Amino acid sequence: MSLGYAEKLSYIEDVGNVGMTEFFDPPHVLQEKIEKLAMMIKQSKHLVVFTGAGISTSCGIPDFRGPKGIWTLQREGKSLPEASLPFHRAMPSITHMALVGLEKAGILKFLVSQNVDGLHFRSGIPREKLAELHGNSFMECCSSCGSEYMRDFEVETIGLKETTRRCSDTQCGGKLKDTVLDWEDALPSKEMNPAEKHCRMADVVLCLGTSLQITPACNLPLKCLRGGGKIVIVNLQKTPKDKNASLVIHGLVDKVIAGVMDLLNMRIPTYVRIDLLQIIITQALSGDKRFINWNLRVASVHGQKSLLPFIKSIEVSFSDKQKYKSAILHDQPFQLKRRTAEAESFEIMLKLNFSEGCGCPCTEINIPFNFKLQVSSESYNVDNDAALDKLRDTAVQHLSCGQNAVIRRKVIFDPRTEVSVYAIVTNVKAFESHSQSNGDIKPRKEMMNAMVTSRKRSNARKRKSSS
Ligand SMILES: [Zn+2]
Ligand SMILES: [Zn+2]
Repeated sequence: MSLGYAEKLSYIEDVGNVGMTEFFDPPHVLQEKIEKLAMMIKQSKHLVVFTGAGISTSCGIPDFRGPKGIWTLQREGKSLPEASLPFHRAMPSITHMALVGLEKAGILKFLVSQNVDGLHFRSGIPREKLAELHGNSFMECCSSCGSEYMRDFEVETIGLKETTRRCSDTQCGGKLKDTVLDWEDALPSKEMNPAEKHCRMADVVLCLGTSLQITPACNLPLKCLRGGGKIVIVNLQKTPKDKNASLVIHGLVDKVIAGVMDLLNMRIPTYVRIDLLQIIITQALSGDKRFINWNLRVASVHGQKSLLPFIKSIEVSFSDKQKYKSAILHDQPFQLKRRTAEAESFEIMLKLNFSEGCGCPCTEINIPFNFKLQVSSESYNVDNDAALDKLRDTAVQHLSCGQNAVIRRKVIFDPRTEVSVYAIVTNVKAFESHSQSNGDIKPRKEMMNAMVTSRKRSNARKRKSSS
């Protein structure tokens, strides 16, 4: 659950101020501030955004110090809140996706986050433009070659401990470690150095949903001041850095950012989540050569012992319904053993029922089964990025999940084993931009739009000339 992280952290007495009062700017003040922020973002040359737990509360992940925060409740001896979705299925907020939109438009140059929920990375911020200062609950890192592995389950440990898995690179095979810091762990230079560099370069550092209390992370935004940069803070509570900020907005982050996107006339991208699984079919001829004993497995791509957290159950049926009995697999590992006549060919039809998600019930996969199939040319790898983009595009178009494609296939002999890796769309979330009907804002909106477009063009030109 989402509280796994807080529960795993070692207990310390002093977690800073908790249960702090929340402030809300009155509507007209809020609107003025949103307009001012939109203008600052539009005119910025090096925008850096710095985020904290407050941007994930609308995703059902509780913060730490708010009135219903984890530490507030813990200090009051109350039980911790329940998350609406399990942590590993949490979906990004308007704010997460607006940041993706700003990054794609070339406006957001770098994103620094104190959150360990992995939602920035999942939402589509490129890894090289992201510093996750306190780690990522879903990321493991190879202790010998540094390769990173993003999992569909929460990594079991925190505190940079060895997990049970190893690096998939056969040349390496190093031990993997979790990436989430405990209190005593120093911030990793791999995240800290680029974060510091970009904060120093920034002309605007926009702090979203953070009470700016955890050192040394909270001092990063201040780095922009020496070069003449400005700090903007959007948070419901007061922070110790408010005095250093040019603009302090007391409002819900999602509302403020949606307002900014609206003024910039920018769309908030749709979130699409794609998960992987592998289907493994092993076949062996019986002693009298009349039958095939076969075994179907639907498994995680993250290692033999890993579960598939996004699949609840699997219904297996066959194209020849008279001959072959269907089955429902409820328990992991999902596995079905059968024996069929050697000469038979048929289709295995799988209905994979999703566990918690955006409400789409299932996906269907059909697998032709034929023992005599020529296999020599069957192994392949498709261009993953292109295949995934295609899945994403269809999901956005139809606003539904379940689209799938084979992205790798491998055949091994003795016993003959066919391994197919499928990419499946498991979550889609679209965000409506809330439109402003106020006539006063319209002309400004158009002007802003013109400026954003011209900047996009000049960015495109820059990219071209540098390549
Ligand atoms: Zn490695
Ligand atoms: Zn869906």
